[in-house]
Amino acid sequence: MAAACIFCKIIKGEIPSMKLFESEKVFAFLDINPLSYGHALVIPKYHGAKLHDIPDDQLTEILPVAKKIAQAIGAGDYNILQNNGRIAHQVVDHVHFHMIPKPNEQEGLGIKWPQQ
Ligand code: 5GP
Repeated sequence: MAAACIFCKIIKGEIPSMKLFESEKVFAFLDINPLSYGHALVIPKYHGAKLHDIPDDQLTEILPVAKKIAQAIGAGDYNILQNNGRIAHQVVDHVHFHMIPKPNEQEGLGIKWPQQ
């Protein structure tokens, strides 16, 4: 854990989040500025800025969790995205995997989200 890290604070509950999943090694929550409904972030609890800073055994659950969240919210089409470094558009220096649903123009996501 890094004291000044936003995502470490979210894991510890010091900053509120819409939590989707938590295990010993992984935490998942909704992105505060979603690119689409259901845009989720799946993160290792282990703090590291870039992928190569995270031990392999802390990463094994990440894709299965992202997959389960996508399935649970009915996202048929989606992107899994992980940025490393400023040039690659990384803003938060705690490794995170985006799961970004791609709504189908005809059917949407197949789920009903609360109306704004
Ligand atoms: P990056 O560009 O680093 O790959 O993406 C960072 C993501 O973290 C952005 O999509 C941004 O909206 C999200 N984010 C930044 N701060 C917070 C926060 O305090 N809470 C939540 N839920 N998401 C955040």
